[in-house]
Formats: sequence, C-alpha cells, structure tokens
Amino acid sequence: MNEIAENLAAVRAEIADAATRAGRRAEDIELVAVSKTHPPETLHEALDAGQTLFGENRVQEARAKIPLLPGRARWHLIGHLQKNKIRHALAAGFELFHGIDSLELARECDRIANEAGVFPRVLIEVNVAGEASKFGFSPEKLRAEMEELLGLGRLQIEGLMTIPPFAPEAESSRPYFVALRELREQLQTEFRVPLPSLSMGMSGDFTVALEEGATLVRVGTAIFGTRSGKAWKPAADSASFDD
Ligand SMILES: *Cc1c(COP(=O)(O)O)cnc(C)c1O
Repeated sequence: MNEIAENLAAVRAEIADAATRAGRRAEDIELVAVSKTHPPETLHEALDAGQTLFGENRVQEARAKIPLLPGRARWHLIGHLQKNKIRHALAAGFELFHGIDSLELARECDRIANEAGVFPRVLIEVNVAGEASKFGFSPEKLRAEMEELLGLGRLQIEGLMTIPPFAPEAESSRPYFVALRELREQLQTEFRVPLPSLSMGMSGDFTVALEEGATLVRVGTAIFGTRSGKAWKPAADSASFDD
C-alpha cells in the first residue's frame, strides 16, 4: 500500500471507531478528503484507494483539477466563496457548498443560480466562537436571517458547517461542535426545516466531531500530509490564476 492508501485506511478506521463509540452508523458519515494544494496525481492515488469525495477551497484550483480526474470523483467546495467566483463555482460541478457565510453571499448565489437554472446544495457556515478573523454567521445573526435564507428558492440548505478556533488539543473543539449541533436543533424546531448535515471536524479533531454528530468531516493533512501552502496550478497555464 502507498502512503495515501495507508493514511486513508487509518482515517476510515478512526471514523468507524468514533461512530461505534457514539452509537452511530459509519454509513451516515461522509469523509471529505481535502485535496487543496495537492496535484492531480496525488488525488488519483486517493481515488485508487477508493476515496471518491474531494474538498477544495478555491474555485480556480478546483476548476483546473476537475477535468483531470475521472468522472467518478465528486467535489465539495469547502472554503469561502468570493462573489465574483459564484458563476464559475456553480458551473464547476460541485455537489455541495460548505461555506455560505453571509446573507449577501446567499442572495447572490440564489440570483446567479436562478440565471443558470440550477439548485445548488449548500451548508450555512457558522462562526460559533465569534472569532473576528473567521467567516460565517454568528448564531444570533443566523437566527435573525434564517427566514430570509429559507426564502431563497434556489438554495437547498441542508445543514450547518463550522471551523472552531485552532487548538492543538482535539477536546478544545468539543464545545463548538456541541454548540453547532444544538443550534441546528433549535433552527429545525423554530423554522420547521430539516437540517440533516453537520460539516465539522478536520485532521486534528474529526473523531470528537463525530462523537458530537458530524455527518461530514473535512480531512486533509491526515490523508495527504503537510500542504505546501500554495494553490496547485497546471504548469503550462498559470496566466489566469488570481485567487
Ligand atoms: C484546509 C481545510 C480543512 C482540512 O484541514 P486539515 O487540518 O488539513 O485536515 C478542512 N476544512 C476547511 C474549511 C479547510 O479549509
């Protein structure tokens, strides 16, 4: 087995263990292999090891990679979506957008989805800890704006996503994961909508996230190793890269 196949097997085993501990079924959990910055060859190795779902955080980088991978690869956009990239993002074939982080962005997505004739599946990003440096709705703002979000007829809102404050200890993330789950439950009751998906947990804390109800975990480093920090771009064509 190559290193990526080994890493994937280890992550899947940890997911299965965490699911068992939490009395959940492993089939109800999706592993998003966060492939940002990694070249297509690396993603091929993961595909060969049975991983079909990939998470990218930049529209431009994903658009360059998607045609280079077989059609059975599936793609989620996990990062912040810039308004001037919405049209490209909707056309790129992402199955789910994890980072709808403001009402303004949601309105713009809805408008462009209407023009494009599509119904994108989305998650609402919540800044549970209220960090100034992070994107996302505060829980209060989300409650105040939920009615309007739900009225955006093109967006299929399937749940919530969060990125807790960075901490070396996985346990430090637990209160934020609990808060996201409780917010989801309140919103479901208050607005009478199903919000089945919770995207939470990364390499350092995904098992804790699973114990607290994550249905999607976004794992990069534990599968692919340390990132270079720079977006991947095709060697021959770098002129149009601006994000
Ligand atoms: C990069 C990224 C991840 C993956 O982080 P790792 O610590 O490498 O697992 C998860 N979620 C988002 C939104 C990211 O940008």
